[in-house]
Amino acid sequence: MKISVIQKQIQALPADALIVNWFEGAMTPTGAAGAVDSALGATDGIPGDGMLSRLIKLGDFKGKHNEVAVLYTNGLIPSPRVILVGLGSKDKLTPDRVRQASGTAVRKARDLGCKHVTSVVHGGGIGGLDVRIAAQATIEGAVMGAYQFREYKSGANGKAIDELTLVEFNPARQQAVRSGAQDGEIIAQGVNTARTLINRAPNHLTPALLADAAREISTASGLTATILDEVGIAQLKMGGIMAVAQGSASRPRFVVLDSAPDNKTPPLVLVGKGVTFDSGGISLKDPAGMESMKADMGGAAAVLGAMQAIGQLHLPQRVIALLPMVENMPSGRSFRPGDVVTMMSGLKVEIISTDAEGRMILADALHYAQRYQPRAVVDLATLTGACVVALGEGVAAGLFSNDDAFAMQLLKSAAAAGERLWQLPMFPEYGEKIKSDVADIKNSTGRTAGIGTSAWFLKRFIETEQGKDAFPWAHIDMAPMMFNTENKGYQLHGAMGFGVRTLVELARVC
Ligand code: MN
Ligand code: ZN
Repeated sequence: MKISVIQKQIQALPADALIVNWFEGAMTPTGAAGAVDSALGATDGIPGDGMLSRLIKLGDFKGKHNEVAVLYTNGLIPSPRVILVGLGSKDKLTPDRVRQASGTAVRKARDLGCKHVTSVVHGGGIGGLDVRIAAQATIEGAVMGAYQFREYKSGANGKAIDELTLVEFNPARQQAVRSGAQDGEIIAQGVNTARTLINRAPNHLTPALLADAAREISTASGLTATILDEVGIAQLKMGGIMAVAQGSASRPRFVVLDSAPDNKTPPLVLVGKGVTFDSGGISLKDPAGMESMKADMGGAAAVLGAMQAIGQLHLPQRVIALLPMVENMPSGRSFRPGDVVTMMSGLKVEIISTDAEGRMILADALHYAQRYQPRAVVDLATLTGACVVALGEGVAAGLFSNDDAFAMQLLKSAAAAGERLWQLPMFPEYGEKIKSDVADIKNSTGRTAGIGTSAWFLKRFIETEQGKDAFPWAHIDMAPMMFNTENKGYQLHGAMGFGVRTLVELARVC
């Protein structure tokens, strides 16, 4: 979808559909909706007399958030259709409501077979949002909403919008609209990259293929990539990664992306769990729904989508991504419950469950992060079923941190990006619970406290040899945020692409 911005009266533009909006409770159209209404009037040019006004007066359209109506213009203006989308009540307007409404309208246009669509900037007029933010949110919603995953669909390509024109009539706002639209497109494409990687089938996305995708992203976005295979991983003595990988015929990778290798200031480091398929290993999962475990690389996908955007936005900060990639399979070579694994840091871990594999690979990556003396580190992982139970599927991701100021910065970044994090505690008792009878720590504690103990396990690997935390760190357990079960706003049935927008926002402010 090609995106452009022009300064024009929207009603004068040729397109397959014009998208305008309406606030719940409004009776007379203003701004672009007012101009379209007048152009579609029974009496030429009298405000409040057009087709939009009549629809509202009849009560057929209320302007509720994400409500949609299609009007056919009978040759009164060049575009044959007007798509009216509700923004909800004016005092509840947020950038995320703009994203949702824009996604809803664009999906409607796509489903009608429109190829060229023209849209106003939602929320930047009487909505009162900063126009740059409104333009960014409008384009983010449109690009995320128009996303489709068709890699395995035979036959025709299906419906797709080729061109989206964003219209702003006020010349003084052109620069802000252009810059917001440009950033919005880059960020939404990062989300869509993450979605595609997650949606891809696990036989088409082994660790080696995920590493190839990381290299392509880095080349296209001006990043440097270093990819270690199992020989390099063994040389670093990354025992956690090697233990999980040893049961699979698909060999592991460890990928490092760097946005500014010549910048010697302390970097922000992003770590993403890249388990391309998690069968549970010898501690085999229930077969029901196991196909969703192709999304167990969702943390790595979020970091890759964010790095793509960070590179393309030319952010001045140095951001480094560390991505351990493995497949967790049962076989005659698998690691097993009872094994003791020596991690890269030297800590010895007793394996209780081979299904608690994510923390094993993240632990080595977090220890590896210490060499950069980072100013902060965030890891993202689809880590525990316990987090899904605690927060609810599709509701929020869990946040853990050793640093209140950094946790606050992440919560603010997530709120600005329209993603939801909920902070959970790091009580020291969780550290007691992971002590092992035979080794230093164990990788699972059974049925209770599963989220706190998993976070505390990771914390042990950000510690220096003296037992001090090496850097401000946050862990995001995004297991609840893998898939959507329906189309709603810019969210589509399939991979959510959660985390990309929060990480880009963090990289902008951190
Ligand atoms: Mn697992
Ligand atoms: Zn897993």
